[in-house]
Amino acid sequence: MLGDIGGNMSHLTVAEIERHIRNVPDFPKPGIQFKDITPVLADGRVFTAAMDHLLTGITRDTVDKIVGIDARGFIFAAAAAARLGVGFIPVRKKGKLPFDTHEQSYDLEYGSNTIAIHTDALKPGERVLLLDDLLATGGTASAAVALLHKLGAQVVSVRFLIELEFLDGRKNIAAHDIRSLIKY
Ligand code: AMP
Repeated sequence: MLGDIGGNMSHLTVAEIERHIRNVPDFPKPGIQFKDITPVLADGRVFTAAMDHLLTGITRDTVDKIVGIDARGFIFAAAAAARLGVGFIPVRKKGKLPFDTHEQSYDLEYGSNTIAIHTDALKPGERVLLLDDLLATGGTASAAVALLHKLGAQVVSVRFLIELEFLDGRKNIAAHDIRSLIKY
């Protein structure tokens, strides 16, 4: 199903981008329907169109930085930042960033995860677009938003290529504007 972003800037429709998402059943474990975005990345026109749609309504006048979440979020956030001419900020898994960090943990089905951001990554009041490839339970994105709030950043929008709507992850994200391109 089509999501709630997607302008007409691109030559390709969101439905055409959706055709390039490959469903891989039972990866990485039984019962999971893994949404493989590598066919989107592999086709230059589709990748570009996905970027265009993700950036609908976003300009250098509305955001100062684009933040991506380790690891597939980096691909979209870095490409989007370069396209817009704004800075890219990584939110990484714990233990990977070399300088001083803030950390945020969140619960998984079994156990927990911790993500981190450099303490000087953003200045208070900076306007941020947060990007990730996929919204499932919302644990990752809500932890990332918490890190952005710790730095005093203003979260303009949180956007995903894919949203698994049945998991209702957006209810866990404290942000005003949450959008996805393709919903399952
Ligand atoms: P969550 O914290 O539950 O919202 O999970 C989101 C993160 O897990 C994203 O960074 C995704 O890359 C990854 N993820 C979760 N479920 C899937 C899935 N079915 N297919 C692909 N990636 C997934």
